[in-house]
Amino acid sequence: MTSWPHEPVLVVGAGPVGQTTALLLARWGVPSVVLDKRPARDLVGSKAICQQRDVLDIWASVGAGEQIAAEGVTWTTARTFHRADELFAHTFADAGSSPFPPFVNLSQSRTEEILDERIAAEPLIDLRWGREVTDLAEHPAPFTVLCTGAAGALRRTLGVTFDGFSFDDRFLICDIRTDLPGWATERRFFFDPEWNPGRQVLVHPCPDGTFRIDWQVPADYDLDAEAASGALDRRIRAIIGDRPYEIVWKSVYRFHSRIASRMRVGRVLLAGDAAHLVSPFGARGLNSGVADAENAAWKIAHVGYGWAPEELLESYHAERHAAAAENLAVTTATMDFLVPPDPERAAHRADVLARAAVDPTARAHVNSGRLAEPFWYHDSPLTTPDPSRPFGGRPPRGEVPPAGPGVLVPDVPLPGESYISTPRVGRFDAAGGPVRLRELAREGFLVLLTEGADRAVADAAARAVAAPVRVAPLDATAAAALGARPGEAWAIRPDAHVAAVVRSTELETALRRALGHPTEGDRPCRTTTASATSPRSATPSTAAPTGASTPRS
Ligand SMILES: Cc1cc2nc3c(=O)[nH]c(=O)nc-3n(C[C@H](O)[C@H](O)[C@H](O)COP(=O)(O)OP(=O)(O)OC[C@H]3O[C@@H](n4cnc5c(N)ncnc54)[C@H](O)[C@@H]3O)c2cc1C
Repeated sequence: MTSWPHEPVLVVGAGPVGQTTALLLARWGVPSVVLDKRPARDLVGSKAICQQRDVLDIWASVGAGEQIAAEGVTWTTARTFHRADELFAHTFADAGSSPFPPFVNLSQSRTEEILDERIAAEPLIDLRWGREVTDLAEHPAPFTVLCTGAAGALRRTLGVTFDGFSFDDRFLICDIRTDLPGWATERRFFFDPEWNPGRQVLVHPCPDGTFRIDWQVPADYDLDAEAASGALDRRIRAIIGDRPYEIVWKSVYRFHSRIASRMRVGRVLLAGDAAHLVSPFGARGLNSGVADAENAAWKIAHVGYGWAPEELLESYHAERHAAAAENLAVTTATMDFLVPPDPERAAHRADVLARAAVDPTARAHVNSGRLAEPFWYHDSPLTTPDPSRPFGGRPPRGEVPPAGPGVLVPDVPLPGESYISTPRVGRFDAAGGPVRLRELAREGFLVLLTEGADRAVADAAARAVAAPVRVAPLDATAAAALGARPGEAWAIRPDAHVAAVVRSTELETALRRALGHPTEGDRPCRTTTASATSPRSATPSTAAPTGASTPRS
């Protein structure tokens, strides 16, 4: 593989999004320096616990997904209750045959440890603690990914605003170790239970006999006072009865709905909580941050190696800002149901919950959070639309959209040999045997041809774009999973999203578009959805080690 022709990429922040970014860059052979202001990793608390299937798949591409999945608690059913009545339970569809379950629960601190182990084994990552980045100066820099979490100083330096609002209500989080028979593999959501009247409670199973209980509590909630008075014990016992328990971690967490006005400023990309904050109902925070990391890594690699023009970076903003806006819309709708902002919506909620016990049509309107899902880039400047596969909009809860332009390709096993023999790029496991479609897709652009597609024309298109593109036949199993028809070429991006479904003769244009090249008749990559500052190149300057961590905002 070509060696990286630039300075290492700077990743600011070694939270889970910064860790994932560095690991994914290394997978492309891209070195990085990761700077974090904390003196060392402080493995405190469970924080973001729900890891979604497609995120496990991204982590699998850096050798961590299988371990996170194995150590986490697999759950497949989400149950919703109103007071003492169960309203409904739903499970999660998989359009393919992913090796991963829909969700596993593992504490964020353990996930970070596992990612640290991968980083320690990765010579291309230079992780330095106690390094606070204090400014971003104009410089013909290589690339920078800001994964600084909610902290805002560097965003402001870039002229990026973080618009939105913060909710008054707080979350009381207690991780307790106890024995709750029947609760160990299900998420339970309680509306208005008698032990938290007027508010919600969420219970998630975690490894080692631990349960994560989240109570929605008022703005003036005082955890210390409640712990001292014995009220916290009574609160826990109202749920678990008189069985023994131990508190593993407790915290009060305030949630926010905010989105950065720009996610790309020159060669600086913002990812994770640095770019968006959402209420945790739906587990869309960390999961979407990992998708940011993947989107950023393949685009930085392609631009840096000269396989794609600089404009490809603008598509990072276009795609991930749209994903963040979708997450905000979904979580805001949930919050409006959970904490109605006006009497009209309060009456709606009361009516829906009252009817849902007996009326199945009302259940569809009960909003206890729409769980994390990959975003669909159907409207991206990189995507070639297919009029015969129009995007049908946000699918029903728990379902995935049919495979087509912009959508994450379903995973299916492939007969290894015919694919493995194609040229390989990057640093990937070269072992033979069966492979998964997603694994293969993540090695570079992949073009899969159905019967009747012109192979010679497709090969010529792949050569013409001067980027790593492999062309391979699509076998019958995979074709069925994709809903592919004869004579089609499926162009799949390195993050396993479908870029185009076209005839071979249209493939070169579609590949050029997917790489960010301007193509005739296309709108430019720049979007108008955010109040943009003028992009400029910037690189961080660092302060001496601070020796102390800064409290989270
Ligand atoms: C108490 C608590 C409970 C939570 N519960 C949930 C939950 O239930 N569900 C959920 O989805 N999410 C939850 N979250 C949010 C979740 O933890 C975040 O979404 C996740 O950590 C985001 O990862 P990140 O890497 O983007 O940012 P972070 O994890 O915040 O990491 C940012 C890193 O950047 C470093 N940094 C910041 N500024 C600088 C600088 N200038 N220079 C160098 N380094 C810098 C910080 O030290 C930090 O290590 C919770 C968060 C908290 C605090």
